[in-house]
Amino acid sequence: MNQPAKQFILTIEGVTKSFDGFKAINDLNFYMDEGELRVIIGPNGAGKSTMLDLITGRTRPDRGKVEFGRDTDLTALNEYQINRLGIGRKFQTPSVYVDHTVYNNILLSLEGSRSVWSTLFSRTTSEQRDRIQEVAKTIGLADRLEAKAGFLSHGQKQWLEIGMLLAQNPRLLLVDEPAAGMSDEETAKTGELLMSLAGKHSIIVIEHDMVFVRQIARTVTVLHQGSILCEGTVDEVQANERVIQVYLGRKKRGDTP
Ligand code: ADP
Ligand code: MG
Repeated sequence: MNQPAKQFILTIEGVTKSFDGFKAINDLNFYMDEGELRVIIGPNGAGKSTMLDLITGRTRPDRGKVEFGRDTDLTALNEYQINRLGIGRKFQTPSVYVDHTVYNNILLSLEGSRSVWSTLFSRTTSEQRDRIQEVAKTIGLADRLEAKAGFLSHGQKQWLEIGMLLAQNPRLLLVDEPAAGMSDEETAKTGELLMSLAGKHSIIVIEHDMVFVRQIARTVTVLHQGSILCEGTVDEVQANERVIQVYLGRKKRGDTP
């Protein structure tokens, strides 16, 4: 019997994306297994955010392949369709509804298609309430359900936004610099949260804080000038000559490797 071909949750192959002749992404190849928690690092301008834009349909590649699962061509779909497939993205700045409670923020994300008004003023089912409780527990906000999101700490807002993505039960979660602006304690908690989600979800985390990277990373991908410079464990990546060269002169405690 033939072995089935290995199935990646995400396949990026030969992808190039230029802005005014500048190759932000340059013949990029990237593969990720289902359930993996992958950390992407790289200097400013390396193309990290553009790579996420290419996955979510915010940007189209000039050429190359971006596939989800076995054979879903993401380059043929728009942002909304890609999100509906189960790809959720968390941007750097939290975008929660500050005047609504934690409970309603999660409720609003459970209901993709209905309007805010009809969601908040129709009866919730016990399944919905259970799901909201479950999500709130996962993100450590089970005792803040009635608090207005505007009163949460910066870290708690970030977790709520992750919870709003989880409410949609994404297969692939893209998280851009989740630890930015967080206290050390919040950063550590964020790491625990992301690690607890791996396996159930596939997760890409872009991060600068190497203490945090070391906490969560199994495989680290180093992006440089729109291509992969190196891939491996944190130790392998930090010992890699090319990586050291790229970061030389940038070395700073708690920052890039
Ligand atoms: P990173 O997230 O790794 O810091 P980005 O993906 O944001 O890097 O950017 C990579 C390069 O592409 C940068 O030089 C940036 O200026 C450029 N770039 C990104 N998006 C656009 C855009 N929409 N228009 C023009 N240039 C862009
Ligand atoms: Mg960026």
